[in-house]
Amino acid sequence: MEKEFHVAIVPSPGIGHLIPLVEFAKRLKNDHNISATFIIPNDGPLSISQNAFLDSLPNGLAYLLLPPVNFDDLPPNTRIETRINLTVTRSLDSLREVFKSLVAETKMVALFTDMFGTDVFDVAIESGVPPYLFFPSSAMSLSFSFYLPTLDQMVSYRLDCLRWLDGQPRGSVLYISFGSGGTLSTVQLNELAMGLELSKQRFLWVVRSPNDQSNSTFFDSHGQKDLLDFLPKGFLERTQGNGLVVPSWAPQAQILSHSSTGGFLTHCGWNSILETIVHGVPIISWPLYAEQKMNALYLTEGLKVALRPIVGENGIVGHLEISRVVRGLMEGEEGKTIRSRIQVLKDSAANVLGEDGCSRKTLEHLASKLKHKV
Ligand code: UDP
Repeated sequence: MEKEFHVAIVPSPGIGHLIPLVEFAKRLKNDHNISATFIIPNDGPLSISQNAFLDSLPNGLAYLLLPPVNFDDLPPNTRIETRINLTVTRSLDSLREVFKSLVAETKMVALFTDMFGTDVFDVAIESGVPPYLFFPSSAMSLSFSFYLPTLDQMVSYRLDCLRWLDGQPRGSVLYISFGSGGTLSTVQLNELAMGLELSKQRFLWVVRSPNDQSNSTFFDSHGQKDLLDFLPKGFLERTQGNGLVVPSWAPQAQILSHSSTGGFLTHCGWNSILETIVHGVPIISWPLYAEQKMNALYLTEGLKVALRPIVGENGIVGHLEISRVVRGLMEGEEGKTIRSRIQVLKDSAANVLGEDGCSRKTLEHLASKLKHKV
């Protein structure tokens, strides 16, 4: 007699994962005469309700338990999702054995698993059986799951940007960022893009959607439209190789410490100033709001480690001026002077933070005061 079609089903731990798979298997059996064997990974005895549920499976649906996996090596606070996933991955060897004999004994046409079980796909493929993901949740969440690798790529793209720096000559790249909340108007953003292009200097620019409200911050609206919508037409293509545009956020401390970074166009937030001084990166000051204008003045007129572009009568820094200042910092004589001045500040910062530095000493003093109180 010809064998009936058969499927293997590997549910990840949890009765909530098992019940819908059993409903699915019942349909296959009742409506299509395809029988099923549930192969169940576990980390110990099943609960009373799971046992009762499995013992009441109808004819044509069978189950077998894999040997329990051991979790003695896991810290007690290991998350449930990790335990579920590890139950499956640590069962792969025993699953492989059981599945091979089922394939030999039955007319196996598929192996089904749920979203925590996708590591079993290889077991099916090795035996020439097609694996299937049973995903009874919404189409929206399935499409989100499929989109996760793209999101992953976008995040590593930001770290891409460090790789891009790796390939640039030493001290050749101007890093441009307006802090965690600074934005420019549409007109200003376009002038900056054109100025950078005109300067022919290498740049790494953290770009944010323009904001045509007057306060120059985007703390309230984190909208990020498509970059192509607001950068000058063809800008990305024309500057490809010479410049890199990163949307919204970049790892600033790592960029400033990178040997390819040779200048920082900054909005003069205090953290940014400290970070650039610690790494000895010369500055173009472009203050936007809060105390940034005061900081910019201090950098430009006081410490003399920054160049500051002149704002036109229309309140905009034009592209010619931007190009002039960028070239001045990156390859001009004034840039060289600033570079040696900021090196002195960098050394002072290292001393202050060093073993006998006043920063370290002050913190030591505070810490001992705190301990003394206790
Ligand atoms: N920052 C960053 N990546 C960005 C923008 C900002 O890591 O793309 C960090 C930066 O290194 C600094 C902080 O965010 O530590 C911004 O602080 P700052 O005082 O310079 O400016 P604010 O955001 O307060 O205006």
